Amino acid sequence: MKRRHLIAAGSAAALAACAPGSKGPAGGQSSQRFQWKMVTSWPPNFPGLGSSVLRLAELLAQASGGRLTLKIYAGNELVPPFEVFDAVSRGTAEMGHSGAYYWKGKSPAAPFFCAVPFGLNAQEMNGWLYHGGGLELWRELYAKFNLVPFACGNTGVQMAGWFNREITSVDDLKGLKMRIPGLGGEVMARLGAVPVNIPGGEIFTSLQQGAIDAAEWVGPYNDLAFGLYRAAKYCYYPGWQEPGPTLECMVNKNAYDSLPEDLKALLDACCRAINDDMLAEYTARNQDALRQLVDTHKVEFRRLPDPVLAALREQADAVLADLAQSDAFAKRVHDSYVAYRAQVRAWAAVSEVAFYQARA
Ligand code: CA
Repeated sequence: MKRRHLIAAGSAAALAACAPGSKGPAGGQSSQRFQWKMVTSWPPNFPGLGSSVLRLAELLAQASGGRLTLKIYAGNELVPPFEVFDAVSRGTAEMGHSGAYYWKGKSPAAPFFCAVPFGLNAQEMNGWLYHGGGLELWRELYAKFNLVPFACGNTGVQMAGWFNREITSVDDLKGLKMRIPGLGGEVMARLGAVPVNIPGGEIFTSLQQGAIDAAEWVGPYNDLAFGLYRAAKYCYYPGWQEPGPTLECMVNKNAYDSLPEDLKALLDACCRAINDDMLAEYTARNQDALRQLVDTHKVEFRRLPDPVLAALREQADAVLADLAQSDAFAKRVHDSYVAYRAQVRAWAAVSEVAFYQARA
């Protein structure tokens, strides 16, 4: 109830701020301008992840009448991609865009706020974050690092990846050298694979030259742009390792606290808009790219065999349980997430899953 009240109050403030000639609820603060730096973990002009950040900046500038503007820095332009968290935490930049699963070294709980193997899809993540207690836990965790997090984008379900080796049984994973970062990599390792983490820009060459046997990246939209179909024989699905990763917008807490209430509400509303819009972009572009990969580039899409998926799922549960054991806060997040997942699975069975089966 408290949260609903806050959201309603925030929306009213945002509307008041948008009204022509409004001085805003903060009175004399309405003319104060905030010009912030925003660092991201993405290559410059990267489709989807990067273009959504540009849209966020446009939206904020327009909706605030120029009172809150962002200067965007792609990965390595101001700080390296994996230093976004620290840079925003210490205030080198006021805002950052990234994925919480990159920060497992800061807290074992972090991946739950982005994606975990066999976890929640995009729609379910939004349910958990906005209405299932997830966002409160995320805010509690990031407050320890002087950060305020917002959900700000989702790619939807990804693909299992590109393989130069056929996967017919669990045995085929043994010794498989695969680019698969994070918890997905840990799951693969428990089944005998050799996970490696290499930056997106190096995947094509590594795969083509045989330095790795397989690689997961995102899905048709981004993978087509990287030309991965020219470096691998098979594309396997589904993306068990990243069923609906939530991207994050993090704000330095001191900078956030300096905003008047109407701009805080506007920031929240704009992040929500981008959270929704990125998923829409990926849904539209993925279906188009899938068609091109199949029709034009003759890519063979294959479903991972059921016994392989079952083995991955079993190891994924063990990896998540170990994560919960390692840290008291991670256990709280794990328990909230897993309880929600159990219930949402029951709901999905009689709603989305049943509908997809009927429509097919
Ligand atoms: Ca991925």
